[in-house]
Amino acid sequence: MPELPDVTVYVERLQARTIGQSLEGLRVASPFVLRTVSPSPAELRGARVASVERLGKRILIGVDGDRYIVIHLMIAGRLRWKPRGEKVPGKVGLAAFDFPTGTLIFTEASPKKRASLHLVAGRAALAEFDRGGLDVFDASAAAFAERLRSERHTIKRALTDPTLFDGIGNAYSDEILHAAKLSPFRMTSSISDAEIATLHDACVGTLRWWTQRLRDEVGDGFPDKVTAFRPEMAVHGKFGQPCPVCGTKVQRIVYADNEANYCPTCQTEGRLLADRSLSRLLKEDWPRSLEELDERRAQRIAPPAIAPAAPPTSAPKRSRGAKAALTAPAAPSAPAAPPSPSAAAPPNTVGARKLGKKPPPA
Ligand SMILES: [Zn+2]
Repeated sequence: MPELPDVTVYVERLQARTIGQSLEGLRVASPFVLRTVSPSPAELRGARVASVERLGKRILIGVDGDRYIVIHLMIAGRLRWKPRGEKVPGKVGLAAFDFPTGTLIFTEASPKKRASLHLVAGRAALAEFDRGGLDVFDASAAAFAERLRSERHTIKRALTDPTLFDGIGNAYSDEILHAAKLSPFRMTSSISDAEIATLHDACVGTLRWWTQRLRDEVGDGFPDKVTAFRPEMAVHGKFGQPCPVCGTKVQRIVYADNEANYCPTCQTEGRLLADRSLSRLLKEDWPRSLEELDERRAQRIAPPAIAPAAPPTSAPKRSRGAKAALTAPAAPSAPAAPPSPSAAAPPNTVGARKLGKKPPPA
């Protein structure tokens, strides 16, 4: 699913193309995608785009009158920029946003229909979508360590928990852990201060490098190759291929709908993580899918009812961190990516179990 680097580049390109433009129309093509009833798509017609921001893995398009379009791509949702008035494609098409400069098409190449669109009035209502994950770029070393140790989990799960950290999913967590030379299945309670500092650096370095890489790739265009599997990745999607650092074959752990890729030499002192105790650990500490975790947490944080701006007092025990912030451009100092001689990566096999979902509006 699109993670921080991908969503950041979507946001930047949408800023360039839509800010100051008026939304001429919002065409909803799928009965499942729109999860709110008010304001209606018709009420937003003619409103001028004032802002485009990232909130976790969501994209917020703010329009006149303090109203927001909240897009969550989930796993298979994608955005495409097409000539103005472009038809919404059948089957995968969810919605279209028409601007004088072109049409933004929202698609989802999955029968599961998990991608969502919310239209909300008032900035306070956005609290419902804020998972409270820590922004690793802004976090101090102490705040990062505190957040990592706030719950006892495997590091892989902690990094990908949107209520703990902002914008990191399955793909970039694999890359971050490889860069930090840490096993995905170390428990957060057992890692040293020095290892946490290394992990923090790896989060910042990896996300920054990838954001810049994707930004360079897209240039003045619009992202049309958003994928969790990229040839330059070190371990994610690279099962059986040589680690770019040491040449050892990349291994994987598959559990339920999840897969973690790692290099045994760089990350686990040569051990293969495939024994029964690992299965037990995963059973206890691994959601069936990361999307499911996201949704479960979402329900815990904010009641799913479509209600006027719930004050963030219904929040969980932990103090909640980063709010919607305009994604800042990455600093120029980016780490060099390990070269990878490999060919195309396998398709994304991550699935997600269907959870109880709000019915489409009548
Ligand atoms: Zn290695």
